[in-house]
Amino acid sequence: TVRTRFAPSPTGLLHIGGVRTALFSWAHARKNGGAFVLRIEDTDLERSTPESVKAILDGMHWVGIDYDEGPFYQMQRMDRYKEAVQQLLASGHAYHCYMSKEELDAMRADQEALGLKAKYDRRWRPEVGKTLPTPPAGVQPVLRFKTPLDGVVAWDDLVKGRIEIGNIELDDLIIARPDGTPTYNFCVVVDDWDMGITQVIRGDDHVNNTPRQIHIFNALGAPLPQFAHLPMIHNDQGQKLSKRRDAVSVVDYASAGYLPEALLNYLARLGWGHGDDELFTMAQFVEWFDLKDVSASPSRFDKEKLLWLNAQHIKAADTARLADLAKPFLDEKGIDLTSGPALADVVALLKERVQTIVELATEATYFYQPLTPSDEIVAKHLGADDLARLAAFAAEIASLEVWDTASISTFIKEFCKSQGVKMGQVGMPLRAKVCGTTHTPSVDAVLALLGRAEVLKRLG
Ligand code: GLU
Repeated sequence: TVRTRFAPSPTGLLHIGGVRTALFSWAHARKNGGAFVLRIEDTDLERSTPESVKAILDGMHWVGIDYDEGPFYQMQRMDRYKEAVQQLLASGHAYHCYMSKEELDAMRADQEALGLKAKYDRRWRPEVGKTLPTPPAGVQPVLRFKTPLDGVVAWDDLVKGRIEIGNIELDDLIIARPDGTPTYNFCVVVDDWDMGITQVIRGDDHVNNTPRQIHIFNALGAPLPQFAHLPMIHNDQGQKLSKRRDAVSVVDYASAGYLPEALLNYLARLGWGHGDDELFTMAQFVEWFDLKDVSASPSRFDKEKLLWLNAQHIKAADTARLADLAKPFLDEKGIDLTSGPALADVVALLKERVQTIVELATEATYFYQPLTPSDEIVAKHLGADDLARLAAFAAEIASLEVWDTASISTFIKEFCKSQGVKMGQVGMPLRAKVCGTTHTPSVDAVLALLGRAEVLKRLG
C-alpha cells in the first residue's frame, strides 16, 4: 500500500512551498487509499524551535491537510538511529575516521590550491591491503559511510525522470558525529524505511541528497522507495520564493483573509494541472491527482490568480462560516455587531462581490456604523441639490408600507420619475449619505437590510 510523508524541519513558519509539498504528498496517499505520515525533522538543535513545531501543526490544521500517523519527532528516535549506525558498522558499510578539523581544513586548502573540488581523501577508509594510520589517543572519531568507489547510482524520479550520478562524485558521507549523534541524511533514510514510505515526495532542493540516501538504503538492506522531486516555486520576478521578500507563511494568508481551500486550490495548480481546470475542490483534486502530471520545471507564484480563486471560493462558501471568519476582523475594528443586522445577512449580500475575508469585513462595517464620506464623495454626491432631494426622499419613504428590497426598489424608481432625475442621481447620494461610501451593493437591498429606523436616522 502507498505510504507518503511530509517531513518539515521546524526552523520557521510553515511556508507555502512546504504546504504544496505536503499537499502533493497527501493527495498521492489519498488518491491511492494509502497513509500520509507527518514527521518533524528536529535534529538541528540550533535552528529547531518549539514555536516552529507549533506553527507547522497549526498551519497544517488551518489548511486542512490531515495526517494518519504522527507527528513523529526525530529527536525521540535517536536510539533507533544509533542502532542502525551500529548495523552499518557491523556490516562493514561504515568506518571510523579520526581526521581532526585542522587536518580536514589543511587537506581542503591543499586540494583547492590545486584547483580541485574539496573532498575527503578517504585516508581512514579500510581497504584490503591498506594499512590504516594508528588512531590518535583521546580523539572521538566520526563515522563515515563507505560509498562505492565506482559505478553509478540512478533512479527514475517520478517527476524529473531518470537521474544518474557517478559514484566518483560522492564523498564518504559522515553518518555519525564524534558524540555519536547521527546526521541528517542518515536519519531520513532510517525513518523512511521504518515508516514504510513508498514514495518520497519532496522539494527538488533535496535532489542531491537522494544518491547518498539510496546508498544508505541499500547498505541497510532496506527496500528503496520511489522518489518524486517537486520543482521550486518562484515569485513573479522569477526568483526563488523567499521569506524576506515574499509573503510565504501560511499565517500571512490567514490574516490577509484567504480561505484555506482557495490557497490549496491555488497551490495544487502550481506545477500540476488537469486540463484547463482552475477552480476545484480538494475532493476533485484528489480524484484527478497523478504524480505524472506534475511539471518538471519551476512554477511562478501569481498573486492575482490566487485572489481570483479566493473570490470564487468565497462565493461558494457557506454564509454562516464566512460570518464566523469575518467576525474577528470586525471585532478588531471595534465594530459592535449588535448595532445592526445579523452578520450572516450582511455576508449573504456581500459575498458575491469581495475577494478576501478582510474585504468582506471592511465592507460590512457600514451596516453597523456609517463611514465618514471622503471630501471627494461629498463634493460629488452630497451637494445642496442632493441633500434637498434626500430630505424629500426621507420624508416620503418614512411611510412606505412594506420595508423590503422589492418595494424599496419600486419606491426609488417612482421617486426618481417624480423628481425628473436619473436613478444614479438618487442612488449615489443615498449610498453616500447612508453608508458613507458609494461602493456598496444594490442600494435597495442595503436599505432593506439596514431597516427603516436606521435608514431614517442616517438620512436625518
Ligand atoms: N526536512 C526537510 C526539509 O524541511 C525535508 C526532508 C525530506 O523531505 O526528505 O526541507
